[in-house]
Amino acid sequence: MELGAFRRILEVSSGDPDDARRRQLLNILILGLAVLSLLTILITGAVTASQMRHPDPAVLMAFLLSLAALAAIVMVFVINYLWSGRIASALFVVMLTVIITMADEPSEVVNGRSVFLFTIPILMASVLVRPWAAFAAAGLSSAVVTIMALRLPGYIPPAPTMLGFCAFALISWLSARSLEDALNELRAMNRELDQRVENRTQELREANEELARANDRLRELDRLKSRFVSMVSHELRTPLGAIQGFAEMLRAGIYGTLSDKQDNALHRIERNTHRLLNIVNDLLDQARIEAGELSIHPEPFAPEALVEDLETTVGVLAEQKGLDMTIAIEDDLPRPLYGDRDRLHQVLVNLTNNAIKFTDTGGIQIRVGRADGDHPSHWAMEVSDTGPGISEKDQDMIFTPFRRVDDSITREHMGVGLGLSIVKQLVELMDGEVTLESKLGEGSTFAVILPFGHPQRRDS
Ligand code: ADP
Repeated sequence: MELGAFRRILEVSSGDPDDARRRQLLNILILGLAVLSLLTILITGAVTASQMRHPDPAVLMAFLLSLAALAAIVMVFVINYLWSGRIASALFVVMLTVIITMADEPSEVVNGRSVFLFTIPILMASVLVRPWAAFAAAGLSSAVVTIMALRLPGYIPPAPTMLGFCAFALISWLSARSLEDALNELRAMNRELDQRVENRTQELREANEELARANDRLRELDRLKSRFVSMVSHELRTPLGAIQGFAEMLRAGIYGTLSDKQDNALHRIERNTHRLLNIVNDLLDQARIEAGELSIHPEPFAPEALVEDLETTVGVLAEQKGLDMTIAIEDDLPRPLYGDRDRLHQVLVNLTNNAIKFTDTGGIQIRVGRADGDHPSHWAMEVSDTGPGISEKDQDMIFTPFRRVDDSITREHMGVGLGLSIVKQLVELMDGEVTLESKLGEGSTFAVILPFGHPQRRDS
């Protein structure tokens, strides 16, 4: 039989844990005694059966006594289960005393080898019934030996033995009391711990719920913000487009020839409209990425297509600042490359624009070629400059939306801090990564590393 099932048979359910413990202990003792009684019944039964005609009265007596003990054990077991552990225990102690009394010669019981056996019911009474019950059991044992001594010729009640019973009862009482006190303390501590765990769990549950609610609110706010930015950007693009259109018509002379002053003003209008349009486009891209509405459309393209109009668009800015700009496309690059050409061009323009914007002397190098040895199946677009460089502590931060380096060089230049964050998100949508190597005062190199493979269409 499994140990668990065996334990379940021995256990008695009770509202009081002390009572349950005592009742279980009693069942264990009962079981032990039942096994002993059965063995005695078997042995004495066999011996009695073999002496059919002249059975030994002592063996027969032992047989009958064992039978009676087994019956009493079953009775105690039933009472323990169905009624009361205390009553069953008291009966058990009495039964044990009776068995000890009957199991040996009266003289041995009164003052001989069996007298020490009375310590067993005394000890059991203290553990099973109540600590003070040890004294009751000691009294019972003393009464038994007294009665038996009075019935034996020449015997007087053995006072030292009875004193011994009392001393043993005292020890049992003290031990059982200490045990119960310790158990009660332990239970009180357990209860307190349980209560504390329950309180903490409740607090955690409430904090979690609060956090979940705050998260929901944040997500909702984020969604509203993205929708708002997207809507405003859309609305701004239309009038900006109109301004650009009219400026182009003015430049084309449709509204007459412009004086130098007017031409100068028109140039400023065009430059600022262009800047504004860039900001609006960045805002729109960021909102689309956040809303998961930006898609990547891969197609085969020649690497030259990436840098095609770079010279004419941003190259002019470099020239105005007196910066050298070199563009190199390495020959060993496999062709065609695969990717979203327009978005890759946007990434390269963004990085080059930054390099020009923040560099005052020196030059800008743009390289499109195989990635370094750590990335054998990747190609790279690299933009290096001889600008102010970016400190190590700022290198991660500048890729987060709306974050710029807090220094005078950055403050001098217009920008909202979205360019690099869009670059990073676009490149990640293409399964690539952006790396930055930079040292203050020595310039920066931004590298976009992308896989050669044929990428799938992706949505953010
Ligand atoms: P913006 O250019 O609008 O400020 P970006 O996201 O493109 O926004 O760049 C974030 C910040 O990173 C910039 O404000 C600047 O401080 C820093 N930065 C970007 N590129 C460079 C560069 N090539 N050299 C030095 N600092 C740079």
